[in-house]
Amino acid sequence: MLFQNRYNQLDSKLYTSQSPKPLHGAKAGHFNVALADELQWSTDEKALWVEICSGQHPLSDCSALAMVYAGHQFGHWAGQLGDGRGLLLAQVLNKKNQVIDLHLKGAGLTPYSRGGDGRAVLRSVIREYLAGHALNSLGVPSSNAVGFTSSQQGVQRETLEPGAMLLRTSDCHIRFGHFEWINQYAPELLGDFAMQCIAWHYPECLEDPQPILSFARAVVKRTAKMIADWQAVGFAHGVMNTDNLNITGSTLDFGPFGFLERFKPDWINNHSDHQGRYCYQNQPRMAHWNLSILLNNLMPLAPHTEKESFKQHMIACLADFEVTFLQHYQEKMCFKMGLPQFHKESFECTLHFLQILQREKLDYTQSFIRLQEGHFNALKDDCIDRDGFDAFMQRYQSIRIHQDQAQLNDSMQQHNPRYILRNHMAQQAIERAEHDDFSEVTRLFALLATPFTHQPAQERASDLQPPHIDATEIAISCSS
Ligand code: AMP
Ligand code: MG
Repeated sequence: MLFQNRYNQLDSKLYTSQSPKPLHGAKAGHFNVALADELQWSTDEKALWVEICSGQHPLSDCSALAMVYAGHQFGHWAGQLGDGRGLLLAQVLNKKNQVIDLHLKGAGLTPYSRGGDGRAVLRSVIREYLAGHALNSLGVPSSNAVGFTSSQQGVQRETLEPGAMLLRTSDCHIRFGHFEWINQYAPELLGDFAMQCIAWHYPECLEDPQPILSFARAVVKRTAKMIADWQAVGFAHGVMNTDNLNITGSTLDFGPFGFLERFKPDWINNHSDHQGRYCYQNQPRMAHWNLSILLNNLMPLAPHTEKESFKQHMIACLADFEVTFLQHYQEKMCFKMGLPQFHKESFECTLHFLQILQREKLDYTQSFIRLQEGHFNALKDDCIDRDGFDAFMQRYQSIRIHQDQAQLNDSMQQHNPRYILRNHMAQQAIERAEHDDFSEVTRLFALLATPFTHQPAQERASDLQPPHIDATEIAISCSS
């Protein structure tokens, strides 16, 4: 590995140095060799992956650290938070010369553990491992993981479960909540910290006469694009608190997330989110809310003589969220539908299709595949309101008829995944892994690596199907 540790150059108030505390009896879970290659792991390092992914093998001479941050959770100020069970082990250069964080989750107590045990259970580690991999393979910016290990050590949740560790990778672990912590507890650090974030993650903003405004604009844009990606693939994060969104707009912190199956815009995948604050259709609004908190926390950096105009610029940055989000979401959805971007009726027709999916309780992912493959009768057969479906088809065909259909079909194929991580798929992999059988994790890992490619030899019928319409949803425990 080529180490490029830099977070430890920041003011020491922003973190606590400490080493991982291994669990007893670490066992190999799964290793993402392609990612290790991308991160320039040597043959010797790859041979040591179980030790590295279980905190037994120290990386570089620099000590690992736990970051401190704060946050708003479910709309309320939660005060100081921080890495309560994960450590930034090191930062390394990948083949593209980008700095990537290696973060070991489940590595033991830290000063920020607040009553928690500093551990992670196998169940949540496997869900995070597969979800990060799935999103990366779908082209959605996200953390990923080099590998995970299970252990012989039990960790108490509702029941005693196997403890596990995940070696997570991300281009950034700096959360909106970092800025909230600094303003609340160490405001003198704000200016330097913001400029360092810009230098690391948005160096192009340094060219701007107003780098802070330029940074705000860039974070808003990247976040809006990420949310558009989530909506288009049907991903619901579930816990969009300000401590779970990072400043580079890449998905972070998988808890009770889910991929939408039967299309239900108000779907709540997090069962402790009683109000549905973070339900699927609220995600754009919640991202906007979180960005307003971030931008507010940049306000102290307004030049003294230009406070009012700085504020007006910040308001304009925030207003850009909706524009950017809609532009990307509409573009992605038109690709998925195989409809031309420029046609004024394309997006209306897309919404028409989504209304049918909602009314008929059809599977989001499979319905797009059927549309892509021209299996219109199969779609219609699943509808109760068949006249309604015919009306949609007429409208759909009338837009496509004079277009370059081969080109539209091409973009459909690039935007409609055949495979997503359905809850029941992850659940099967977890149940086997809890008996030390990781074969289902391996199968899903391979399947989700190329989600747009038909893989008849790897797929099972259940990978393509939502649970039965009357089945009770698998309750995803919030404890992790
Ligand atoms: P989350 O909602 O999973 O992002 O977690 C919110 C905060 O709780 C973060 O600061 C986590 O580090 C912390 N946390 C979650 N689970 C544990 C645990 N088992 N032990 C210590 N801290 C935890
Ligand atoms: Mg978190």
